Amino acid sequence: MMIESNLSLAQATHKKTVGAGDYYINVIKKGQVLRILDIEGNQAADTLFYNADDPAERYSATDTIREQGNVYLTAGSVLMSNDCKPMLKIVADTCGRHDTVGGACASESNTVRYALEKKCMHACRDSWLLAISEHPEYGLSKRDITHNINFFMNVPVTETGGLSFADGISGAGKYVELEALMDTIVLVSNCPQLNNPCNAYNPTPVEIIVWN
Ligand SMILES: [Zn+2]
Repeated sequence: MMIESNLSLAQATHKKTVGAGDYYINVIKKGQVLRILDIEGNQAADTLFYNADDPAERYSATDTIREQGNVYLTAGSVLMSNDCKPMLKIVADTCGRHDTVGGACASESNTVRYALEKKCMHACRDSWLLAISEHPEYGLSKRDITHNINFFMNVPVTETGGLSFADGISGAGKYVELEALMDTIVLVSNCPQLNNPCNAYNPTPVEIIVWN
């Protein structure tokens, strides 16, 4: 569902450009709104969410899909935790659909899906691990890296239930906006993947914008 935001950029309280292959980690407080902007288009933002007061509670793809009865995320979707509590709500979306079943890229999965020599290529899982090792204040460890959302990524589910990593439906300037329903740690890997069309084979920056 397409819903445009009525927030003014002039009133944003925080802005950060995240280069391809880089990460973003921060806490957004209950009531704050976070926008992820696909600056140049066709870029996947692989994102994890944790309860800032207790990171053992985190975003759950399975609870979210079951509660909304749909595998795609868009405006109106409520992102549920593994305790089945609402964490965030997508309040605006100009892309139309986001994936939460395709998982994030890792050097290991790159070797299985593509070729053994892809092992040394930078992957989202590396960016997440770098983020939590450079920011011990969030209390996250390797075991906290679980299922994620791929904002702007297009993973259509076929009639027979198959998944395909398809060319993106996002474009330059499209965005998704989330309102925090609890104090939430946001961890984004701006995907560096070069082996499938999730970034149009040309990873580009995204911008994170926050409103109080
Ligand atoms: Zn990735």
